[in-house]
Amino acid sequence: MDLSSIKNIVVVGAGTMGNGIAHNFAQYGYETTMVDTKAEFLERAMNTITANLDRQVKKGAITADDKTSTLARLKTSTNLVEQCKTADFIVEAATENQQLKSVIFHTMDDHSPEHTILATNTSSISITEIAAFTKRPGNVIGMHFFNPVPVMKLCEIICGIATTEDTFAMTEELATKIGKTTVCVQDYPGFISNRILMPMINEAIYCVMENIATIEDIDTVMKLGMNHPMGPLTLADFIGLDTCLAIMNVLHEGLGDSKYRPCPLLKKMVAAGYLGKKVGRGFYKY
Ligand code: NAD
Repeated sequence: MDLSSIKNIVVVGAGTMGNGIAHNFAQYGYETTMVDTKAEFLERAMNTITANLDRQVKKGAITADDKTSTLARLKTSTNLVEQCKTADFIVEAATENQQLKSVIFHTMDDHSPEHTILATNTSSISITEIAAFTKRPGNVIGMHFFNPVPVMKLCEIICGIATTEDTFAMTEELATKIGKTTVCVQDYPGFISNRILMPMINEAIYCVMENIATIEDIDTVMKLGMNHPMGPLTLADFIGLDTCLAIMNVLHEGLGDSKYRPCPLLKKMVAAGYLGKKVGRGFYKY
């Protein structure tokens, strides 16, 4: 099998990441179907994609014709079983929940052709564990995109213990074809991105807890001293403090090293419901 035999892409989950992934595949010429559980979620995803394409046209990144042809390549469905039957490559981007992903991977495995590669956009669940839900662990791989997907260049490609070289080669080629720069990662908690980013954010939260400096000054150090576009506490608010805590717990449990223990202040803020920008209050007020 080579890249030219990949014609139909299915993206499972049409939320923040799923609509971006589908947008990206369709923009680069792939017939792409988004699958979600309710028609209203799919409608919302199509509206988001249309608005994002409009923005790209306005910026001159794509033409109005590109927008029209991208939309023409996009379809939606609430029937995963049906869509699996003709899928060559599936990217699962549903809610981050192991039980849910187990059900979805069983379905994808049972109903898609033998050659189909089953990729997951999970941020924190082991690719090896997800692959074990299927009878084709060699065809299962991690494809970790970044938000907003049509803008962010990186795609971490994560090989589970059983992922074959062919699956990796095909996935890497496909990601490159849709404009991404890829990195190859072995399957350990947090991959590369969250393994490095989250402990940095966690350390910034320790600095707040220990009253080393103000929230604003901690962010200023990382912006002006390290040239980061955004301070770690602002970034934590954008990501969601509940998500940050969940990822620290994955690192802590998965790697078993106390250096990954979540900061008590992070736990306290999550318990209080100060989850960041999405609720109007985190380290900053919105
Ligand atoms: P989200 O909540 O925005 O979207 C998840 C979507 O999955 C929802 O539309 C939901 O209805 C749908 N869904 C739930 N059950 C389903 C099912 N059985 N079949 C089909 N669809 C179903 O979540 P998100 O932020 O887009 O995250 C999706 C995945 O991407 C997660 O695994 C997450 O870890 C990963 N991820 C997220 C980010 C990020 O910045 N948000 C970045 C990288 C990876």
